[in-house]
Amino acid sequence: MARHARFSPSAASRRLNCPPSLVLEEQFDEEESQYAAEGTAGHALAEHLIKKHLKIRTKRPVSDYYSDDLLEAVDEYVSFVIGEIEDARRECTTPVICVEQRVDASDYVDECFGTADAVIVTDKVAHVIDLKLGKGVPVYAEENPQLMIYGLGVLSMAELLYDVETVRLTVFQPRLNSSSTWDVTPSALKKWGEEALRPRGAMALMGAGEFSAGAWCRFCRARNQCRARAEEFLKLAQMEFRAPALLSDEEISEVLRKSDELAKWASDVYSFAQDQAIIHGKVWPGFKLVEGRSVRKYTSDEEVAEAAKAAGYNDIYKHSLIGIGEMEKLMGKEQFARILGHLVYKPQGKITLAPDTDKRESITKTTALAEFTEV
Ligand code: SF4
Repeated sequence: MARHARFSPSAASRRLNCPPSLVLEEQFDEEESQYAAEGTAGHALAEHLIKKHLKIRTKRPVSDYYSDDLLEAVDEYVSFVIGEIEDARRECTTPVICVEQRVDASDYVDECFGTADAVIVTDKVAHVIDLKLGKGVPVYAEENPQLMIYGLGVLSMAELLYDVETVRLTVFQPRLNSSSTWDVTPSALKKWGEEALRPRGAMALMGAGEFSAGAWCRFCRARNQCRARAEEFLKLAQMEFRAPALLSDEEISEVLRKSDELAKWASDVYSFAQDQAIIHGKVWPGFKLVEGRSVRKYTSDEEVAEAAKAAGYNDIYKHSLIGIGEMEKLMGKEQFARILGHLVYKPQGKITLAPDTDKRESITKTTALAEFTEV
């Protein structure tokens, strides 16, 4: 069996929306980012802590990535999983609990398998929990193809033991304060497996189907050079703004809808071209490498202080309060809440225009106007 799944569940959204992306991406090397490495380290620690709770022999992993911030995020996830395990133990005398469990959906698509972070199966519910340690965008469980594939894989194992009534899918994102759970029946999940996953998966493995650009392009290895993605964005420039002289509301909405993705695409292509020029000496017609603006810096703070004092300038330091995060770390959460809780407030976030699909609650016109005009 292949070490890496050709049809990896983590790329499922991309494969289902743009099937030929699989074969196109195979031309490119795997991308290794420090975020991915940090995520792997976080998952290893979470696995260790949950196993410890389950009294399974385990060794605490060591990593340079273990910052306070990461440890806190992992702790939050581990507490959530332990809570779910204990609930399952109350509801069922023989629950099955697995951590970093390989799940296989190759009944639906060849070479489709992956690792579910936590799986808890009772006589009624098969629960898959996915930890995401990124700080980027929230991901939701509902109709999430990655989790649905995990769900299918877990279901095929769970149904050997129990008459499962519900497949529960959870995405836990501690760094975004986001947790999302979706319940689906085994029959609805299998129907999706047959009607969507199986045919689109077969196309993906063959490199067949149409290229289609969208939010799923974000982690595609072909994203910087993909023609379909470029054409999708360039359509914006080709919008036909004819008479009347002013854009209609619909036309402005269309520009808004595209502009966020357009900015990301332009930035991806720019970073790619810049890296190629700096690292590989690639010359792009009409462009050259130049040195950016820089600001003056002291060569040594100690020597500057010494020289300034020797010249009679003593008022050369400024003191400022350490930040809230640092203060909380210094005092510990409980002490911080007791001593300073009443002196900390959270101002309302900056009001921004977002598409209807954004999960945040809409604010009313009067609230927005009041906020906007507040001095
Ligand atoms: S960048 Fe987008 S459109 Fe292009 S192959 Fe990748 S997923 Fe498909």
